[in-house]
Amino acid sequence: MSKPEFVVELGFIEQAPAWKLRSKFFPSKVGGYPAWLALKDLPTTEELFCRRCKNPLVFLCQLYAPFHHKEECFHRTVFVFVCRDPDCCQDNDASNIRVFRCQLPRNNDYYPPEPAKEVEADSHTPGAEDFNNLCKVCGALGLKMCGGCKVARYCSKTHQAFDWKAGHKTECKDPGSVGQKSTVSKFLFPEFEVELEPEEVEAGREKSEAEVMREYEELLRSGRPSHQDEDDEDTENDLVNMASKETDKQFQKFRTRIKDYPDQVVRYDRGHDPLWVSSQNKPTDIPPCPHCNQPRQFEFQVMPQLLVHLKVDNTGRSIDWGTVLVYSCPDSCQTSRPYVEEVAFKQDYSPISSVMRNN
Ligand SMILES: [Zn+2]
Ligand SMILES: [Zn+2]
Ligand SMILES: [Zn+2]
Ligand SMILES: [Zn+2]
Repeated sequence: MSKPEFVVELGFIEQAPAWKLRSKFFPSKVGGYPAWLALKDLPTTEELFCRRCKNPLVFLCQLYAPFHHKEECFHRTVFVFVCRDPDCCQDNDASNIRVFRCQLPRNNDYYPPEPAKEVEADSHTPGAEDFNNLCKVCGALGLKMCGGCKVARYCSKTHQAFDWKAGHKTECKDPGSVGQKSTVSKFLFPEFEVELEPEEVEAGREKSEAEVMREYEELLRSGRPSHQDEDDEDTENDLVNMASKETDKQFQKFRTRIKDYPDQVVRYDRGHDPLWVSSQNKPTDIPPCPHCNQPRQFEFQVMPQLLVHLKVDNTGRSIDWGTVLVYSCPDSCQTSRPYVEEVAFKQDYSPISSVMRNN
């Protein structure tokens, strides 16, 4: 990803054959198994636990984001994991999300210094499964083995139980069939490539504050509350009243900025300001990098549009976010372990903007 100064790169979902999204091609992708960069010393099972329910997270996305000025970061990928349990998803709280960065120099133990040919043959190698047993359900380190077939591996009892119900009960009697991954899709998100392109913002397109405010007020007047059990008209009046006192210009800026590229699922803008979905609940206490003590910087954000592609349940309660911000070490400092945990921050819509977001 070459990154000219001050240009935001936008990520879009693309269909791609699974073989193109494997480790050796350094993909940016959503869903499926993680395509680990360093193939040994993967994050531990505990590091991939949800901080809230203590169950294993599911892989959400990874972005290939090398630092061109730094030899140790010739290859660099940031991985995002999330808990699938909607009960762990709380407003403005990222304890159901964890983020790891990984980097490798051009000359490393796994990949040749020149890019691999984009062909399907041998696309699976090298892969983390060459060096580790991986959990059949989530693709993370699988230190536990099924006592029946002694073939299936799992990161945790939770995933073993999940897989047993999802079909391993039958499969286990026929160890030759284990590893056909047929049961796995029930846990993983659908897999896509993420293609990054520079955002083009036309000169003079940045709107004046007055313009933004006017649009915002119009929007409020046309706003319909999404909760059907409330009195629509009263709620609408409340909204307009609320807007005159406590406006959320930030949300309108958000909408204006993404209007030309409504399908963006990621914004990569390292070292700059995120695009906030609300002027409320901005992070105030992102901890510094524990390895070099420098303040972490914003690196990229996952946009709400990604939720559409995840096939998460839309009718009942489901996992959700306004935006997920990733903060990382500004130097991507070298540490003794290849996978380094960084910080996620989840910003949700303020009450007033959540009412309007469907407009
Ligand atoms: Zn959880
Ligand atoms: Zn697992
Ligand atoms: Zn088994
Ligand atoms: Zn650091």
